[in-house]
Amino acid sequence: MSRIVIAGGGAAGFFAAITCAEAAPDAEVTILEKSAQFLSKVKISGGGRCNVTHACFDARELAARYPRGERALLAPFKRFQVSGTIAWFESRGVKLKTEGDGRMFSISDSSQTIIDCLMNTARAARVKLFLNRSVEQVAKRANGGFELELSDGEKISCDHLLLATGGCRAAAAGQLAVSLGHKLEPPVPSLFTFHIATSWLRGLAGVSVESAEASVPGVKLRERGALLATHWGLSGPVILRLSAWGARELHKLDYKFPLHINWLPQLDAEKIAAEFQSRRGSQPAKLIVNTPLAPLPSRLWEQLVLAAGISRDTRWAALSRAAQHKLVQQFIRTEFQVTGKSLNKDEFVTCGGVRLGEVDFKTMESRICPGLYFAGELLDIDGITGGFNFQAAWTTGWIAGRAMAGRK
Ligand SMILES: Cc1cc2nc3c(=O)[nH]c(=O)nc-3n(C[C@H](O)[C@H](O)[C@H](O)COP(=O)(O)OP(=O)(O)OC[C@H]3O[C@@H](n4cnc5c(N)ncnc54)[C@H](O)[C@@H]3O)c2cc1C
Repeated sequence: MSRIVIAGGGAAGFFAAITCAEAAPDAEVTILEKSAQFLSKVKISGGGRCNVTHACFDARELAARYPRGERALLAPFKRFQVSGTIAWFESRGVKLKTEGDGRMFSISDSSQTIIDCLMNTARAARVKLFLNRSVEQVAKRANGGFELELSDGEKISCDHLLLATGGCRAAAAGQLAVSLGHKLEPPVPSLFTFHIATSWLRGLAGVSVESAEASVPGVKLRERGALLATHWGLSGPVILRLSAWGARELHKLDYKFPLHINWLPQLDAEKIAAEFQSRRGSQPAKLIVNTPLAPLPSRLWEQLVLAAGISRDTRWAALSRAAQHKLVQQFIRTEFQVTGKSLNKDEFVTCGGVRLGEVDFKTMESRICPGLYFAGELLDIDGITGGFNFQAAWTTGWIAGRAMAGRK
């Protein structure tokens, strides 16, 4: 009987354990979880709703949502991707729904549904589950397999070991992999929001724009999407995506950099100028601050007009060519100074982890240490916000589980 130990009772560890135990009913599959709770990140994920995956069904398109891991994940996604995740949960009684932006959740809108499903399925597959037991040290046995030392001092052995211990925010988190010969890409945060001190922006907290373009000059970062003004600066999907693609560059800049916002990327400068020109003729007596350009929210419009140096009592007829030019520039390129970052509370993830070249993505087995497997955020894989991080955990967990069960 083959003994399989999984270090880490999170999304990747559970998916691997269940897949393995279902494919090899004779194997003894054990999950050792360091903390007092299984699946604690699933519980808090997606604001308590757990954004399980994203409605993106083409493997190449899906892989392109991972700033780290795109190439490595392409082949795994051809074997198990979003449609696999949907079918997996549905066959176990959990139906998923898709929101307008592509994010997928359980129809119950509760992460507890996902936890109950994973716990019940693991128990039904006779996975052994232990809390408050962490793997502290690992040694290779001379004749294959591993000897593990646990936090309670117990020593156990196994034939296959899966490390699914999550993101390496602290270097110590990757120590087990390092002790078995692996190297880590240094960890830095991904999926964060930007601090901006500009007072008129802070006054707009809660205002959102459906489609803005944000770019960081000098580091070739540019994203388009929904943008949200907050009490501390800017957030929303477009900022989170910039933070993911720029995780390393922005870390190097110590999170202090200029940020350009185009509030109306669907219109070019000439079109905006032509619209202003026509307003000078069609509504000359109206105050500029009171006549917003759709689809901009009126509070934002007002602040942009004032930030362009146009006073509250200026009417369209009195808008000089120079002032009009400044106003157009303000709409297509407001410059802010970012002074720091905050973690996004709905989803965050670590960029960095076990080097991808050291892992065979057909099996998730180490290329350095046979019998050792990896899954989930411990790897140097992270996705943009929207359910991609869990999808990577399900896919890598599924592949590792099949391989440890001796199945393709
Ligand atoms: C607040 C928040 C919200 C999020 N929301 C979403 C979302 O809605 N959608 C999405 O796609 N992603 C989301 N994410 C990201 C997602 O949660 C992670 O990418 C995912 O949980 C990674 O799964 P994992 O199993 O690799 O790691 P984890 O879920 O971190 O699990 C690893 C487990 O290993 C345990 N462990 C660590 N060391 C040891 C050891 N030595 N021995 C035994 N056990 C150990 C840990 O205690 C932990 O329970 C969110 C993240 C956060 C922080």
